[in-house]
Amino acid sequence: MSRFPDTRFILSAASPAQFPADRGAEVAFAGRSNAGKSSAINAILVRHGLARTSKLPGRTRLLNFFEVGEDRRVVDLPGYGYARASDSERATWEPAIDALRARSSLRGLYLIVDARRGLTAADQQLIEWVDPTQRYVHVLLAKADKLSRAEGRSVLQHASAQLARGVTVQLFSALRGVGVEEAQEVLETWLK
Ligand code: GDP
Repeated sequence: MSRFPDTRFILSAASPAQFPADRGAEVAFAGRSNAGKSSAINAILVRHGLARTSKLPGRTRLLNFFEVGEDRRVVDLPGYGYARASDSERATWEPAIDALRARSSLRGLYLIVDARRGLTAADQQLIEWVDPTQRYVHVLLAKADKLSRAEGRSVLQHASAQLARGVTVQLFSALRGVGVEEAQEVLETWLK
């Protein structure tokens, strides 16, 4: 049984004017392109193909909002690390992401990191941006199935040591279902 049985896509926003009303609670999902964010969203919300919506042409640089319950939302942010993103594209989505931070409904951030790559400077910047003293931050070390058990333990330890106080972190694999329940529990708690 899904914990979020009523999940549906609401809208894609290029600018704050298009955001849904700042009511209830929402959680942002972010990560470098290809880190496994879409697969993580699909696995956590138990909606195969849901986050594919965010990958449709023209939507990858937008903020995609999903409703996961009454006035409860997940916001899929554009994948970062696009070397090719043009200045004009950045000029559109950077202010939009900034505006998200000003919303009182924003409870926190799920940061998706490729477990083999570990935390990058861009990931750390995003954590600072959201400010872990003000909001929740939970890191998913994704594609953990590509690591041995010992490697997984070591990557988890290393990431924990690098993260600011209060930031939580776990191993995750959408492919093998590793850590999905833990990730669902955290999300459910934040959205209460
Ligand atoms: P996004 O760009 O961050 O949204 O990443 P995607 O979810 O689209 O995944 C990027 C690539 O990584 C795809 O080829 C996925 O099949 C692969 N991938 C995603 N999650 C996993 C996982 O848990 N294990 C493995 N082995 N591959 C994964």
